[in-house]
Amino acid sequence: MHTEQTVIPGNWTSRFLNGAPESQEQLEAGVQLALQKLSDHFTSVDQPYSGATVSQLREQIRAESSFPVHGRSLEEAMKLIEPLLQHAVAVHHPKCAAHLHCPPLIPAIAAELLVGATNQSMDSWDQSPAATLLEQELVQWLCALFAYDCSVADGVFTSGGTQSNLMGLLYARDAFTARHWNWNVHQQGLHPDSHQLRILCSHTAHFTVRQSASLLGLGEAAVIPIQTDHTYRMCMNDLDLKLEEMARSGAIPFAIVATAGTTDFGAIDPIEEIARRTQNRGIWLHVDAAYGGALMLSEKHRHRLQGVEAADSITVDFHKLFYQPISCGAFLMKDRQHFRLNQIHADYLNPVEDEWSGIPNLVNKSLQTTRRFDALKLYLSLQVTGTSGMAEMIEHTMDMAGVAAREVEADPVFEWLHTPALNALTFRYRCQGNARLAREVSVSNELENAVNHQIPERLIHQGVAVIAQTKVGQKACLKLTLLNPLLTRQDVLELLDAIKSAGWNLEQQLERDIDSIHKREWINHS
Ligand SMILES: *Cc1c(COP(=O)(O)O)cnc(C)c1O
Repeated sequence: MHTEQTVIPGNWTSRFLNGAPESQEQLEAGVQLALQKLSDHFTSVDQPYSGATVSQLREQIRAESSFPVHGRSLEEAMKLIEPLLQHAVAVHHPKCAAHLHCPPLIPAIAAELLVGATNQSMDSWDQSPAATLLEQELVQWLCALFAYDCSVADGVFTSGGTQSNLMGLLYARDAFTARHWNWNVHQQGLHPDSHQLRILCSHTAHFTVRQSASLLGLGEAAVIPIQTDHTYRMCMNDLDLKLEEMARSGAIPFAIVATAGTTDFGAIDPIEEIARRTQNRGIWLHVDAAYGGALMLSEKHRHRLQGVEAADSITVDFHKLFYQPISCGAFLMKDRQHFRLNQIHADYLNPVEDEWSGIPNLVNKSLQTTRRFDALKLYLSLQVTGTSGMAEMIEHTMDMAGVAAREVEADPVFEWLHTPALNALTFRYRCQGNARLAREVSVSNELENAVNHQIPERLIHQGVAVIAQTKVGQKACLKLTLLNPLLTRQDVLELLDAIKSAGWNLEQQLERDIDSIHKREWINHS
């Protein structure tokens, strides 16, 4: 018999977490190093961004991106990543207020270590036995939170809103095609009449609706934008108009996406009224609550998603208003039967026999195969904050957005556009009527657009603030997403002041530029 002993190199044991003391010492040392780096960084960081430009950063990052043939200590390797920390955006900083990009809760950061160290994979039960069951418990809790009937509803954790929206429209398409044309897209590909299919959503809905339409083979042109009212919510008159037009033209509306929290305005579409229109027409209602879904935790604000339980499917993100590290989201479906529409059985992973014997393989419900145990982060976070503790943080950020909106409204330097429905505030810097400038630049909208467009860029390169820009109609606008629970009224005022002075400086700079253009023209003419 062959009894040759295999000897593995001594240091391999300490490279992986296992029962050996030296392995655990390594982990502890590694985590200590990481913690030290984090505390050095967070102690010293006093602005939302270093201000480095793309080219400056590229040089630095490139310099450290080759690998040694024979490894180095973790301590040495950690030194290499210092520029990564130094030039990270500081998501906890009150002046980091651009996107739906949250500071993560500490219990969730601790959970990330557990998730990584145990490395469960959520695709099959034999790769994540307990984790599979915990995820299902959380999904059931979420279904209840959104007032679904838990005996028929189900869902799955996703990488975020992009994936969840794609899933909603995928099941919408496949359910419609099965019912209407007795056609299995999954087996047969798109039905020949699929070019008639239409998705309706407000024109401020997330771009991933169009992206999904394209990925699903329907084309972006299948997405029909609906007008919004003065509060940037989907306008029911226009929705009715578009539905009538479609009925006349033979186009088939198979899905409506209602947004609960648009990215620019936080607007929440009137879900109940939309549901009334989908139900009697056999149209799938998908609610994109990536942003606003967290309001379901708040006694005070829950009613604004009234009717959400009528949705056939729901997107909710946890790496936004649930303060989870990226990535963490979920897709929920009112009727779990629909998950069958897109199920593939792999002999090695989720054989049908498993289903007969009641073994849950979550790959049956997911577009991903190997998948992280992100549910643990949400679980530990909610255990620590409590549901109303989470709600209070969200409510505070909404109050801060209210403060910002009132300041903007009261200050003639700003053009006020809306009362924030969540904690995103879109507005515009108004050029200061510098009379000469206004005369010279006859197209004042263009001037204001140029100034507004450059404000975020200037602020980030000064390391003063990270804010976003967006467009409303033809107007370049500024956007603050005030989702940081650590934000104070004082921070809000400072942020607005920073925007004002950047705007003023840009205006003056523009005036000098115009002067020099005129000088050049004068020289050319004479
Ligand atoms: C963030 C967001 C998305 C996209 O979600 P990701 O998690 O970034 O993939 C979709 N819809 C809305 C309304 C969002 O706010």
